[in-house]
Amino acid sequence: PGDAEAWDVERPEALRLADVGGMQEVKDRLEAAFLAPLRNPELQRLYGKSLRGGLLLYGPPGCGKTFIARAVAGELGASFLSVSVSDVLDMWTGNSERNMHEIFQTARRQAPCVVFLDELDALGAKRSRTLHGGLRNTVNQLLTELDGIDSGANDGVFVLAATNVPWDVDNALRRPGRLDRTLLVLPPDAPAREAILRYHLRDRPIESIDLGKLAKATDGLSGADLAHVCEAAAERALLDSARTGTVRMIGMKDLLAAAKEVLPSSEPW
Ligand code: ATP
Repeated sequence: PGDAEAWDVERPEALRLADVGGMQEVKDRLEAAFLAPLRNPELQRLYGKSLRGGLLLYGPPGCGKTFIARAVAGELGASFLSVSVSDVLDMWTGNSERNMHEIFQTARRQAPCVVFLDELDALGAKRSRTLHGGLRNTVNQLLTELDGIDSGANDGVFVLAATNVPWDVDNALRRPGRLDRTLLVLPPDAPAREAILRYHLRDRPIESIDLGKLAKATDGLSGADLAHVCEAAAERALLDSARTGTVRMIGMKDLLAAAKEVLPSSEPW
């Protein structure tokens, strides 16, 4: 990466926060910080609510951090730019900072835009002492870009970041006006699993399925695991249909069998 076109911008128009299962605390926070003020500009002015500051999400992989960031873009009718910090880093002096700047410039051009920075800990303060000192410059560049929020340069740019190890994230990045709220995203509980399964089965031909029972049978699975269960069940029904020449609905049997084959991708957290 190095030029604007290297950073892919999506437009997740159809995705809504309601499509994200569970994560109520994160949804509430997003509603208070961005969504309610943006939907009610007169109230935003009345209360002097700024749109500065971003969220830092942390928790085990596959539980929907990227997905909820994409859904925020959907809610806002915004574009979505998702990057992994490890893809920003470059061994050549100056390139990582340039990449970081280009990401924010792309977001400003495409505003309103939600920027999602995954693996933020790759810039970790702890690592910067052991790895090349260029990391320090990259952190400083990110601070400069985030502070653009103050000067109005970042109007319409919303930053969400994620990490599995928040204690590795530089404290300067977590000051007020920057990534100033840290929220834990845990693996889904039973009601959240039910919602996630419903979402991933919504456009598929299904028989009557006891989602509550299926949610109970999938304890320990992440959102990504559950998406995979639905995919694998669809595959089974499709293959049967292809073999027999008659369309067979996806049934409880397919889903339970698929669930058995999935090994939970996250360790107990
Ligand atoms: P990582 O830390 O590995 O990036 P993540 O927390 O960002 O993980 P996602 O990439 O958002 O996880 O999840 C992967 C996929 O799993 C999503 O694209 C979505 O299909 C599904 N998924 C995960 N969590 C949820 C959820 N809460 N509701 C609906 N689908 C979900």
